[in-house]
Amino acid sequence: MQQINHYINGAHTDKSERSSPVFEPATGEPKAKVSLASAAEVAGAIELAKKAHSSWSQVSPLNRSRVLFKFKALVEQNMDELAELITREHGKVLDDAKGEIIRGLEVVEFACGIPHLLKGEHTEQVGGGVDAWCVNQSLGVVAGIAPFNFPVMVPMWMFPIAIAAGNTFIMKPSEKDPSSVMRMAQLLTEAGLPDGVFNVVNGDKEAVDTLLSHPDIHAVSFVGSTPIAEYIYETASKHGKRVQALGGAKNHMLLMPDADINQAVGALMGAAFGSAGERCMAISVVLAVGDSGDALVEKLLPQIQALRVGNGVTPEMDMGPLISAQHLAKVTSYVDTGVAEGASLLADGRTLSVEDHEQGYFLGGCLFDNVTPDMTIYKEEIFGPVLAIVRVKDYAEALELINAHEFGNGTAIFTQSGEAARHFCHHVQVGMVGVNVPIPVPMAFHSFGGWKRSLFGPLHMHGPDGVRFYTKRKAITARWPKSSEAKAEFVMPTMK
Ligand code: NAD
Repeated sequence: MQQINHYINGAHTDKSERSSPVFEPATGEPKAKVSLASAAEVAGAIELAKKAHSSWSQVSPLNRSRVLFKFKALVEQNMDELAELITREHGKVLDDAKGEIIRGLEVVEFACGIPHLLKGEHTEQVGGGVDAWCVNQSLGVVAGIAPFNFPVMVPMWMFPIAIAAGNTFIMKPSEKDPSSVMRMAQLLTEAGLPDGVFNVVNGDKEAVDTLLSHPDIHAVSFVGSTPIAEYIYETASKHGKRVQALGGAKNHMLLMPDADINQAVGALMGAAFGSAGERCMAISVVLAVGDSGDALVEKLLPQIQALRVGNGVTPEMDMGPLISAQHLAKVTSYVDTGVAEGASLLADGRTLSVEDHEQGYFLGGCLFDNVTPDMTIYKEEIFGPVLAIVRVKDYAEALELINAHEFGNGTAIFTQSGEAARHFCHHVQVGMVGVNVPIPVPMAFHSFGGWKRSLFGPLHMHGPDGVRFYTKRKAITARWPKSSEAKAEFVMPTMK
């Protein structure tokens, strides 16, 4: 069986004492074993990354960006191989895997502009013969901890800007699908990145805890579930680190009676069932205003029943399996709970069986109607192909529900009323908002992040916030006096 170890200082390492199986979700077969790093192995990687920082931070921003230009070309050349690595370990269909690589590459493209992005501000003559300016410098060694659901895109939200800014990086991918990040590490070396600048440490809690507390880690970027995000934020902050910890979600679509129903249904199908609902920006609840719910169900149900579910490497599939047997059991138990709590299950994906893939972790599309806000399936993140319809009397009730929910990652309104859309954008308590756009993931040159219990920390990921997160500002005030006649002054200096 294939053994996946770590990628440290530009090379693959030997295996660790502990390891964990990596499954192929479409077949349920173990396909590899991934090493789980010990605290000492993580500390060794940090030491090498610290050494690499002393030279990498002195490379000019232009030369750092040239490495990323080469890396982008190499990822494009190896797109099919990377996409297949994602599909084999995650399960999502191949085109979706390519989509996440392309969205990740957009951050690489943004980071290629680092010479411009790092420019500071300069004011000449802030006082007589005095100039002032600021520069943005790297932090040192920084760490990223990723979830299973975007094994390429989420790491690319983090490392391209971090290393472009002169930091060195320790990446801890999800132990469920680590191969695509390992391949990216090789491609970075091929692109000319010096050894030790980008390192992959595979592992579990032991590796993560070492990153959170090690004195030579200066910033931690995390994406994953809310309880772990909260733990990461608290622990790393306590150890004096900068932290951005993105957590879970429950994204609502607000469907107004005047919406173009065909457009809304098409958008909803992809947003709810793409990647088997394992997306932090998936729509998992529709708030159907007035009688819009009847038209919605009539059009949506046949499309859910027609979903093509199967092995993601088969080209014509819409949806692949869930990530693991445990996750399948968890999502299925949410469906059981929804039925027990009295919601109407209109499409039941639990009955699905995929030919020749009986051991795969498949669940068909599920649709609940008449869900109420007190039900578990409304309150909690399910992270599977389960869509809930909540019937509401008017727009005000819908807005109130979204704002009362503990998560605030993404939301969307579907309407033809500019007035309603504008009111929604202004008043909704959510970090990313779509108007007739179901998955409003910001482009790489903007920043990504939710509100409430979907994000811990002040800065969002990539875009301008990404540059701020991975740099520290230094303000310099200078004068070059002709002679040294100045007398000591004991009052606060002010401009005279
Ligand atoms: P997870 O929280 O289980 O794992 C995320 C990472 O944390 C993994 O690398 C894992 O090894 C590590 N980890 C797990 N348990 C840990 C522990 N006890 N101590 C230290 N580290 C630990 O999340 P997941 O199941 O891989 O991913 C799905 C979750 O991620 C969903 O909740 C989803 O909403 C969220 N997510 C959020 C965003 C966002 O942008 N807000 C994006 C993608 C995924």
